[in-house]
Amino acid sequence: MGIRENARFVCPACTRSIAVTDTMRDALVENGCVVCGADVKLEAFDVAETA
Ligand SMILES: [Zn+2]
Repeated sequence: MGIRENARFVCPACTRSIAVTDTMRDALVENGCVVCGADVKLEAFDVAETA
């Protein structure tokens, strides 16, 4: 079992799209967008259905 991205973050401020893991998602919500520093809400994440 490895770490893999299971959600996609799209920053509402800079529109950067990043595939993220649960851990990365939590960090983004806590710290803000890594690109522009905007506040990040859970609504900015699309959870990818695994195929
Ligand atoms: Zn951003």
